[in-house]
Amino acid sequence: MENSGDQFDVIIVGAGVMGSSTAYQTAKRGLKTLLVEQFDLLHHRGSSHGESRTIRATYSQHYYYPLVMESYHLWQQAEAEIGYKVYFKANHFDMGSDDDSNLLAIIDNCRRYSVPHQILRRHEVTEKFSGRIDIPDNWIGVSNEFGGVIKPTKAVAMFQALAHKNGAVLRDNTEVTDIKRDNVRGGVVVSTADGGSFWGKKCVVTVGAWMKKLVKTVSGLELPIQPVETYVCYWRIKEGHEGKYAIGGDFPTFTSHGKLLVYGTPTLEYPGLIKAAAHAGIPCDPDKRQWGPGVLLDSLKEWVEGRFLGMVDSSEPAMKQCCMYSLTPEEDFVIDFLGGEFEKDVVMGGGFSGHGFKMGPVVGRILADMVVHGEAKGVEMRYFSLARFKDNPEAS
Ligand SMILES: Cc1cc2nc3c(=O)[nH]c(=O)nc-3n(C[C@H](O)[C@H](O)[C@H](O)COP(=O)(O)OP(=O)(O)OC[C@H]3O[C@@H](n4cnc5c(N)ncnc54)[C@H](O)[C@@H]3O)c2cc1C
Repeated sequence: MENSGDQFDVIIVGAGVMGSSTAYQTAKRGLKTLLVEQFDLLHHRGSSHGESRTIRATYSQHYYYPLVMESYHLWQQAEAEIGYKVYFKANHFDMGSDDDSNLLAIIDNCRRYSVPHQILRRHEVTEKFSGRIDIPDNWIGVSNEFGGVIKPTKAVAMFQALAHKNGAVLRDNTEVTDIKRDNVRGGVVVSTADGGSFWGKKCVVTVGAWMKKLVKTVSGLELPIQPVETYVCYWRIKEGHEGKYAIGGDFPTFTSHGKLLVYGTPTLEYPGLIKAAAHAGIPCDPDKRQWGPGVLLDSLKEWVEGRFLGMVDSSEPAMKQCCMYSLTPEEDFVIDFLGGEFEKDVVMGGGFSGHGFKMGPVVGRILADMVVHGEAKGVEMRYFSLARFKDNPEAS
C-alpha cells in the first residue's frame, strides 16, 4: 500500500519515545502508519529529550521486571537494525534505609525472578566502590548487573528513522485538536490545528504531559494524570577523580530510596560531570511552563555531599536541564483502550510517571499489539488499565 494521502491503518499522535517506538512497530508489521507531532521532531518541550535515561530491572512492583527485560532485548534489536548504539551497559545499585519498604520489595523481586544480586552493608559498599559511594550505618545497598544508560534523543531519532524506513509517514509541527468517530466509514477522523484532517482505522494517543487535556477534549474523560515540571542536575566531579565515575568501568547507575528519591548515572554525556537528580517536581500546565522551578535542591546537595564523600562538588549543580513528568496517583502507567464510543479503535499510552523511557520499546510493542490484535500478549494489563481509576475513585 502506498504511504501517502490522508488515510491510514493507524494514526499515532505524539512523537516522543512512546509514539515513535509504536510507529516503528506498526510500520514494521506492514500497517500504513502516520506519526503526528505538534512541535518539531526531537524538540525539548516534552519528556523524551536529553542525553541519558537509566534502565534498571529493580522495581518494587513485580510487574515491571518482565517489561524491562523484554525492553533490553528490544533496545538491542533496534540498535542492530539501525547500526548504532543508544544503550550503554552498567551495573545498577539501589540504596536506602534497611527498613525502607521499596528497597525490601526490590530484594523480594530479585529473589522472585532469580536476579543475581548482592546485599551490602556500609563497609561492603565502601569496599565495592573503592570509597566512591558511602551510605549511612543503618542503610543497605543492593547491587545487580541489570543497569545502564539510554541516550534519549538519539533513541527517539532511531525509532523515527526505523519507522520511516518501514514506510511510516512522519508529520511534525501539526497539532492534533480532536479525534472523532467516523460513523459512516468506521474508524476515526483526526483533526489538526491547521484545519486539516486524517482518517485512521485505528488511532494511538501517546501525548505525554498533554494526555489529560487531549483525552478530556476527545472523550470528556478526566484522567488523573498530572503534568509535573522537573529538572535533572549534573554535578562537577573534583579534579583528579573524574575517571572514577565514568561509564564502562564499575561505577553503576543508581537509585537512592526514601523520602527523597535520588537517581543518577555514571559520567557519559558530559566529561567531568555526574548526573544525580531528585524524582520530584512541581505541577504545571505543559503549555505554560516556568522552565526550571526549584526541585528539593537543598536536600539534593546534602545527598550529593554525603554519598560521594566530597569527591563531587555539591555547592551548586554545574548544569540543569528541564523536563516534564506525567504522574499518575500510584505512578503506574496507563495503557488501555479509550473505550466509550471509540471501543477498541483508540488506544492510549500515558502516565509514564518519570520512569517510562527504559520501557519505550516494549510499550511500542504492546500498543502495536493492541492495534493489531485487540489485546497485548503476555502482559498483565490490569495494572495499567483505566478501570483502576473507576474501581478506586480515591486514585483520581
Ligand atoms: C527529568 C526526567 C528524567 C527521567 N529519567 C528517566 C529514567 O532515568 N529512566 C526512565 O525509564 N525514564 C525516565 N524518565 C521518564 C521518561 O523520559 C518518560 O516516561 C518518557 O519520555 C515519556 O514519553 P512519552 O512519549 O509518553 O512523552 P513525550 O516524550 O512528552 O512525548 C509526547 C509527545 O506528544 C506530543 N503532543 C502532545 N500533544 C499533542 C497533540 N495534541 N498533537 C500532536 N502531538 C502532541 C508532544 O509534543 C510530545 O512530543 C524521565 C523523565 C524526566 C522528565
